[in-house]
Amino acid sequence: MTTTWQDRYSGAVMNTFGVPKLMLERGAGAHVWDADGNEYLDMLAGIAVNSLGHAHPALVQAVSTQLATLGHVSNLFATEPQLRLAERLVEMVGGDARVFLSNSGTEANEAALKVTRRTGRTKIVATEDAFHGRTMGALALTATEAYRAPFEPLPGDVVWVPFGDAEALAAAVDEQTAAVIVEPLQGEAGVNVPPRDYLLAVREITSRHGALMWIDEIQTGIGRTGTLLAHRNPELFDGEVVPDLVTLAKGLGGGVPIGATVALGATASLLVPGNHGTTFGGNPIATAAANAVLDTIEDDDLLTHVEGVGEILRKGLEADPRVTEIRGAGLMLGLTLADSVDTATLVDAALAAGLIINVPRVGRVRLVPPLVLTVDDAERFLTAFATALDAAGVSP
Ligand SMILES: *Cc1c(COP(=O)(O)O)cnc(C)c1O
Repeated sequence: MTTTWQDRYSGAVMNTFGVPKLMLERGAGAHVWDADGNEYLDMLAGIAVNSLGHAHPALVQAVSTQLATLGHVSNLFATEPQLRLAERLVEMVGGDARVFLSNSGTEANEAALKVTRRTGRTKIVATEDAFHGRTMGALALTATEAYRAPFEPLPGDVVWVPFGDAEALAAAVDEQTAAVIVEPLQGEAGVNVPPRDYLLAVREITSRHGALMWIDEIQTGIGRTGTLLAHRNPELFDGEVVPDLVTLAKGLGGGVPIGATVALGATASLLVPGNHGTTFGGNPIATAAANAVLDTIEDDDLLTHVEGVGEILRKGLEADPRVTEIRGAGLMLGLTLADSVDTATLVDAALAAGLIINVPRVGRVRLVPPLVLTVDDAERFLTAFATALDAAGVSP
């Protein structure tokens, strides 16, 4: 008997994800190929990570050049790519801010959580259905009981209120509250969109009680919804909200691991020498990658592109009676299907139609393709998705 790659996976990789359905070999743009040479249109992008798609020349060039020049030095030294990225992130949130760089979303949230502890308060208000990461601190904020329960006790003093409900939030926030953490759109839940005035209300409530407003833009940030930061997207939100903390990761490095904790105003001074650290965080390779992502978004006017191609997807999906709701903006779209088809059946039908899609909950599809998804890709998706819904037996 031959040993399959699935056997090797089960034999050597800890069983936290289940055995994957595919082993992928290479990618280009929004396309990937498996070990048998089958091609797939990647509408998941490594879970909203591959902002420039696969093997983008600007990212390849930036990372290769940086690695050949100076790959890692630790935070005992500064580097130009690190400074450039930090300055750009400060500018992105509006000027008066400072940045802590790390290696992932959960780490970006850990650093922010430590910032909140330095207020002298410990209570955190989060939202139901929120996802904030898997390390102990970030997990303590994540709403999903099944993720948290096996690891209790977790850092405590967290309460959850319904997402998008300003009244419930106002009732939960008090003088003991260090921070309110909220995603602009809830990603892992299948793209939940709050009312247009929700973030303004969060700002008003937190300010009233001297609590920090912490926006988790790990999935929504870096162009995903058509603006660099989703909380500034006029298509989604009223007003101009200035938060105290913004966390970033996923799309920022375009596939190279990086996280960023941005603290605004006085909040930027809460962590002092000795309070936090990281060996890899802000490393020249990761920051060169993030700079290349931001350069490409700017140079190729990807924000306008995201809006345009997102609109094509939306229009096409609206025409399908089996799709009853489309949530989100830009290239972060959540669909509800008329028929609650079994999750695995739908994912398999999509793969058979040449599509990688994500089905986070029964009857809910999340589309977070590369920002470089072309108009042709979008049209190919619409055709293949209709085929997949047919094959999965989804009826209107
Ligand atoms: C993915 C995600 C995280 C965790 O990021 P990791 O890089 O997986 O640790 C945190 N918050 C949100 C909103 C996310 O989507």
